Amino acid sequence: MKISAISTIVLRLPFQHVGSPLLFAGKPRTAMEMLLVRMDTDEGITGWGEAFGPGIWPATCATIENLVAPLCIGHDPAQISTLHEDLQRKLHALGRSGSVVYALSGLDIALWDIAGKSAGLPLCRLLNSAPKRDVPAYASLLRYIEPSLVGRKSAEAVSRGYGHIKLHETGVVQAREARAAIGPDVRLMMDANCPWSVADAVAVARELRDVGLTWLEEPVWPPEDYAGLAQVREQGGIPVAAGENAGNVMDFGQMFSARAVDYAQPSIIKMGGVTEMLKVLKLAQSHGVMVMPHSAYFGPGLLATLHVCAAYPASTLIERYYCDLDASPLGEVINPVNGRLVVPQAPGLGADPDPAVIRRYQTL
Ligand SMILES: [Mg+2]
Repeated sequence: MKISAISTIVLRLPFQHVGSPLLFAGKPRTAMEMLLVRMDTDEGITGWGEAFGPGIWPATCATIENLVAPLCIGHDPAQISTLHEDLQRKLHALGRSGSVVYALSGLDIALWDIAGKSAGLPLCRLLNSAPKRDVPAYASLLRYIEPSLVGRKSAEAVSRGYGHIKLHETGVVQAREARAAIGPDVRLMMDANCPWSVADAVAVARELRDVGLTWLEEPVWPPEDYAGLAQVREQGGIPVAAGENAGNVMDFGQMFSARAVDYAQPSIIKMGGVTEMLKVLKLAQSHGVMVMPHSAYFGPGLLATLHVCAAYPASTLIERYYCDLDASPLGEVINPVNGRLVVPQAPGLGADPDPAVIRRYQTL
């Protein structure tokens, strides 16, 4: 089999939101942007991947079309690790994170989808002969800022079956409001998205101690200050999570050596796809670090994360971005049942994007 064509499709999916406008990369976020990677083969099997696109899809698409696709056409899609390493080596001078690695991630996920479809097996069974059938999901709330709204949305997510809630807030008052709304038994996390100095992060972490957070995520600016994160862990008194901005397994090695995190959060569409994720999982296990993947997206990247979590023997939660889209290209498989995402059992990732949803929401 040979790779015959690679193309990109960008969708803008409107979503429901209340309260303050949601900001992303310095701009209001009015739709969830999804960058699909379609890989065709000369034997008629099509694989689907997802590359990180929100805010950066013009660059990621150009990287795929101009740099990555020409290096892949004509190759055997079954040689995943060889092709993956070849692309990493050839493109390393153009960046070890950012759009180059986002592009590689989308390609890699499509290759694994093809591998599963060729074998007639769901991806999780390619990776493990006895995978889990479902994975507990946590509701990853949007940022609401207004404390009473944070409490209301937290309680709403619990009423919809979630047993784990994550806030995207920076205030202690919002964390307390959420805890009061959901009671003591639901697990609660808070994602700050890199706002503080190390000293400020330690101070906030200490104030948050009695809220009972399972983790405080990305408390420190800049995100790659692993020594700083280690200091917050040591002095703040609550567990720390980070990793969605790491570009490859070497970054995670440095993070683990620095004892920076209790929970590692590789993002499959940002750090190299399934192939690189498997390396991070192995490394995390050898360091005794738990993995809680970042998957605040809704396409093949979410499904790939689900399959990898299902195949991983240790327990994980999967991140489900808590917002209702006007339409899901993957239909219902991305919606949890009783707080758990069920692994689709069709070959490959288990579901292809719906052409009708693509036609309706395609922007490029
Ligand atoms: Mg995060």
